[in-house]
Amino acid sequence: DNEVERRTTALKKDLAKLVQEDKLIALGKMVASVAHEVNNPIGSIINFTKLVRNAFREGELDEERASKYERYLDLSLREAERCGRIVSNLLSFSRQQAVEPKTLDLGAMLDDIAALTRHKMELAGIEFRKRIHDAPLCIWGDYTQIQQCFVNLIFNAIEAMPEGGRLTIRGGRDTDREEAWLDVSDTGTGIAEEHLSSIFEPFFTTKTDGYGVGLGLSMVYGIIREHHGRITVRSEPGKGTTFRVTLPVAPEEGGAP
Ligand code: ADP
Repeated sequence: DNEVERRTTALKKDLAKLVQEDKLIALGKMVASVAHEVNNPIGSIINFTKLVRNAFREGELDEERASKYERYLDLSLREAERCGRIVSNLLSFSRQQAVEPKTLDLGAMLDDIAALTRHKMELAGIEFRKRIHDAPLCIWGDYTQIQQCFVNLIFNAIEAMPEGGRLTIRGGRDTDREEAWLDVSDTGTGIAEEHLSSIFEPFFTTKTDGYGVGLGLSMVYGIIREHHGRITVRSEPGKGTTFRVTLPVAPEEGGAP
């Protein structure tokens, strides 16, 4: 018996180490890709700024050159803004690393998010529906982190429906598996089959207007995993997309699992 116990403890230690290493590898990849993502626009900013400075040193600017340099300045500004967005995304993520788990009701949380985004949805011509069975639908987790996940999913859904549409949130409890599930569905553009395997990667974005940073879903993925949950996606190009988040339900009164 002692032998079994000893080996179990050793196995648990190995497992914990593996999980820790996995986290470090993920962190390393994240840092490398952030450095890359921020480095490129900074390179452009430096080049554009030098061009404009040299032009001023050379003296008089005719109209044609002035408009060219104005374009350089616009590009620099856009690149700088992009760096700013990447960094603020990362900051908001790292600030929340101090996890403070407690029992939280997903239905109530979604009401709060819906109240904040209702106006945005109305302007975009989006009809919002929410159907939660089994209220209260309680999980054990960090409020700010879980909220950030659903805000990200909802904003992506809104952005996928530039011509308006319907955003539906459904939720319920799977009693067999002690799990709560939540679906965020839209009737938007959908996701091309060849992109499905990349959307959770950091910095993967198809948003070409410069506003896509591609960190949203990778953060959602990381947070849900930290909470011992899963996230899956089903999508039909041209018809819409559904993201499903599954999380363990909160333990009975009396504390952490
Ligand atoms: P970002 O929104 O900055 O592009 P995300 O990581 O949140 O970054 O999303 C990555 C990509 O996944 C998006 O650029 C888009 O192509 C795709 N995507 C995510 N959610 C949806 C959705 N609801 N409908 C269609 N495409 C989506």
